[in-house]
Amino acid sequence: MLLRLRPTAKPSIANHVRRHFCTTGALHNAGSFAPKPQVFHHVAPLREYRKDLLFNKRTVGLVPTMGALHEGHLSLVRQAAVENTDVFVTIYVNPTQFGLNEDLGSYPKTWEADMRLLATLDRELASVGSGRVSAVFAPSTKTMYPALPPDSSVPGVGSFIEMRPLGQLLEGASRPVFFRGVATVCMKLFNICAPDRVYFGQKDIQQTVIIKRLVKDFHLDMDVRIGATAREPDGLALSSRNVYLGTRRRNVGIVLSQSLRKAEAQYKAGKRKRGDILWQANAHADNVLMQQDSLEPSKRATFEVDYISLADPDTMEEVDEVDETRGAILSGAVKMLPLEQPSEGEELGVGDGQIPVRLIDNIVLDPVS
Ligand code: AMP
Repeated sequence: MLLRLRPTAKPSIANHVRRHFCTTGALHNAGSFAPKPQVFHHVAPLREYRKDLLFNKRTVGLVPTMGALHEGHLSLVRQAAVENTDVFVTIYVNPTQFGLNEDLGSYPKTWEADMRLLATLDRELASVGSGRVSAVFAPSTKTMYPALPPDSSVPGVGSFIEMRPLGQLLEGASRPVFFRGVATVCMKLFNICAPDRVYFGQKDIQQTVIIKRLVKDFHLDMDVRIGATAREPDGLALSSRNVYLGTRRRNVGIVLSQSLRKAEAQYKAGKRKRGDILWQANAHADNVLMQQDSLEPSKRATFEVDYISLADPDTMEEVDEVDETRGAILSGAVKMLPLEQPSEGEELGVGDGQIPVRLIDNIVLDPVS
């Protein structure tokens, strides 16, 4: 059963900065020697801690992650700290959202670096009197899936949440178990952490639509907040998986963001029909692919375009024409293929350029008022 916890008021920041609670509910001075975020591996102590917070009328913003933290994750934590007294960050690589042939085994794990980043960010938040990163929840898979070993096969034995057809479109078409795993693990995390607000990145836009639907359809008592996509200066969306790219594939990988920008420009220029918006995006991706194909194997980085989509913002169904009162979502996915031939001294990234990397990105086409 979902633990309903809803404080009536956000306490003053001054009150929050003065007092910081540990799991037993005892008070600590927060000041310069504030405790680092507390790490929880088990459900019961985290629930006790959450109850203490509720009892003291504090609010919790939850930022679920799979670790390998970067600025995109941290920007969500900052946003959560503005709107809540306490931020919970979860770090858990959820096996049920990885297909049997996907990169679960090689997904980057950087626990020490993640904890350092969170501790540093927490000190920054303390200095501005904002909410604090008070808890990190890092459960084991036995804790998250107590009844059975988790099953990533398509038939899937176990207790799952599925959203059809939303979870089967776009990313779900290429990764059939992905959104079943995401919705299931998020429901578990929401039940355990009982947050007032949950924070997700626009980078994974279909995931944000799934989570909003989960909260609505299951009457979950929490608000969903979406944070802007954090990018490299040239526009490449930050992702934990970018460490696999290496310099050559990273430079070509910008093709996705560039293609979407070209489609966005068409919308901004007043185009509303699907073909008129998408043709420049498709043409750009085709051109870049042709350029790469014409190069020597030791120079090129080739890729496959999985999809470039123009979809309804609530259903993610493809649209033939954008209803400008609703806007639309432009999104795409590109698979950077393994390098055929490394060159002498080349920076190849983690996995020596041999791990395929799926890049996703999107742009929201705002309604025209
Ligand atoms: P992940 O660890 O990749 O599962 O991501 C955890 C959360 O961080 C999700 O809500 C993601 O959408 C969000 N996130 C990942 N990359 C970015 C980014 N570049 N900008 C903003 N949020 C992001």
